[in-house]
Amino acid sequence: MANFEIPSEQWAQVVEKPGGPVVYKKIPVQKPGPDEVLINVKYSGVCHTDLHAMMGDWPLPPKLPLVGGHEGAGVVVAKGELVQDLELGDHAGIKWLNGSCLACSFCMQADEPLCPRALLSGYTVDGSFQQYAIAKAAHVARIPKECDLEAVAPVLCAGITVYKGLKESGARPGQTVAIVGAGGGLGSMAIQYARAMGLRVIAIDGGREKGESCRQLGAAAYVDFTSSSDLVQEVKQATPEGLGPHAVLLLAVAEKPFHQATEYVRSRGTVVCIGLPAGAYLRAPVFDTVIRMINIKGSYVGNRQDTQEALDFFQRGLIKVPYKTVGLSELQNVYQLMKEGKVIGRYVVDTSR
Ligand SMILES: [Zn+2]
Ligand SMILES: [Zn+2]
Repeated sequence: MANFEIPSEQWAQVVEKPGGPVVYKKIPVQKPGPDEVLINVKYSGVCHTDLHAMMGDWPLPPKLPLVGGHEGAGVVVAKGELVQDLELGDHAGIKWLNGSCLACSFCMQADEPLCPRALLSGYTVDGSFQQYAIAKAAHVARIPKECDLEAVAPVLCAGITVYKGLKESGARPGQTVAIVGAGGGLGSMAIQYARAMGLRVIAIDGGREKGESCRQLGAAAYVDFTSSSDLVQEVKQATPEGLGPHAVLLLAVAEKPFHQATEYVRSRGTVVCIGLPAGAYLRAPVFDTVIRMINIKGSYVGNRQDTQEALDFFQRGLIKVPYKTVGLSELQNVYQLMKEGKVIGRYVVDTSR
């Protein structure tokens, strides 16, 4: 077992008031409780949720002061006395679900993301935009040693989330899934997971550039909503029998695609909502929903098993995440680019600079 020297202070990015900005400063390193581990975070992905946490614009208020971040990949450097299945030196990941009670009826049935007492990294507890972060040992992702900690970081939220959505869609190998928002960061991972799961992908997004990247990742068809005169018909025609895709994954952050999906999904198909357009509502005609037996559902983050499966696809080289790395000290610039809608792919922060 390795031994690690743990400093008393560390660099972190701290949200001190709603709306930010984040303040790059030294803060104390915490000690893990009996059922917790302390992870020396090496790299952390930056998710849109982190921007919402800083702005405080979601209905659920985050803690203050707050250290954000929930895609943290690093090394276990300390653990509580109850932790048995993790050793110092193991690689582990901080994900959105930092901990849950493990005793409620949701936790007992592997629906721990729905636990009423769930702890959320970088939101209700401090997250991974610091050099040393704490999480419940039961919930940290076990990252295989062969995985590059920098490249794997975005899998810890984005990857798990889209993989979970594909599982929730119920689509089986050989069937077709439409991915709305396929050209974005989540979308590019969703295309790769879907392909690895044996699904045929129809990518939906706007612009020629996004179409090219979707096709490079293996989408069988691309429907451009900016130039399509009848999107619903075009999506249906892109499926083998013209009956529509078996499932639709909605990663978009606009409301309109949520309404269109119920029109082109195949009868008995499933529409899975993942993206969170602010203040949006779902609308679908009851008549069609009934006589075409359409399922409409939401999908949140994965449980512990989903996490390990999503990491396994990555370890086998089936998922490549385009990312750009900057120092943790530059986090505010990343938020600025996000606000301006200029982020393509994923930003990863290196906590050593
Ligand atoms: Zn996230
Ligand atoms: Zn629970």
